[in-house]
Amino acid sequence: MSLILISSEHFADHQTPPGHPERVERAEVMDVVAARWRDGGGEVVAPRRATHEQLARVHDAEYLRRISETAGQAVALDPDTYTSTDTYEVAQLAAGAAVDAVERVMSGSHTMALALVRPPGHHAERSRAMGFCFYNNIAVAAAHARTMGAQRVAIVDYDVHHGNGTQHMFESNPNVLYISSHQYPFYPGTGAVDETGVGAGTGFTVNLPIEAGAVDEDYQTAFQDVALPVLRQFKPDLLLVSAGFDAHERDPLANMRVSTEAFAAMTLELRAVAAECCSERMMLVTEGGYDLRALTASLETVVKTLSGPLEPARWPASGVKSSRGRLSAEAAKRALKPFWRL
Ligand SMILES: [Zn+2]
Repeated sequence: MSLILISSEHFADHQTPPGHPERVERAEVMDVVAARWRDGGGEVVAPRRATHEQLARVHDAEYLRRISETAGQAVALDPDTYTSTDTYEVAQLAAGAAVDAVERVMSGSHTMALALVRPPGHHAERSRAMGFCFYNNIAVAAAHARTMGAQRVAIVDYDVHHGNGTQHMFESNPNVLYISSHQYPFYPGTGAVDETGVGAGTGFTVNLPIEAGAVDEDYQTAFQDVALPVLRQFKPDLLLVSAGFDAHERDPLANMRVSTEAFAAMTLELRAVAAECCSERMMLVTEGGYDLRALTASLETVVKTLSGPLEPARWPASGVKSSRGRLSAEAAKRALKPFWRL
């Protein structure tokens, strides 16, 4: 079997206050998607908890101690990041699912893995919980892949928010490429086009900030003109995806107009890169996505795209005239000119 899903019924135990977007129904969506895959003969496994050693590769020890002290308690760690009594354990399972996905793909037991997790991770900094995130799941995965022999790891983050935590954890590391498309200006405020990395990592942070209101064609341009050529030149040994679906036109938290079909196209483009560069080795971890219908449809289309035949991506046409993607791509090309042929 080429695709495996990793999910846990315990993700529902991360309870947030009433009205909070990271609500328990998000876990139920993931259960439904996993159950349908299993019913169709697909493989679904439950994760183990990430170990202290795995988490400590990207988080500092004092922070890990502070998070461990929230065990059994409901507390607010920042204005929108809350724990319930079980969050400490659930967050360890989410990071553990990302580790498990990497192990399956790196060991060759599966070609692709999708970790359906909550809480999300890409806003979590080395020593700070923020934006609904506690442990940076995708960063824990990337660090784990490096210890398993991956020389070059690429992370593509199509969540509508910039993954500030992921960028900061790897911005000085030339072995981990981070590419993010995101609404900008917007929460969390980082992800400007001139943030291209630090020191030896300069050029290995690729930001595609896009103005609110972007449609499918804008994402197609940003992907095809910048993200995909950079990936092909970097030639990763493993492709990681921060799969957030809050750029969807139905999402209540953000203001983009991306269709479910465009998420299929993005995923298929990335799969094609993985096929060219690294024998299709690819893993995805969920991030945001706050409209339950859009989240269900997007996850199902991603599962279908990863398990079906590898065909050329068919980008949908919204018919809306927008220059947002072109402006973003042009700015990124200028910023990245010293590092990549674009
Ligand atoms: Zn998001």
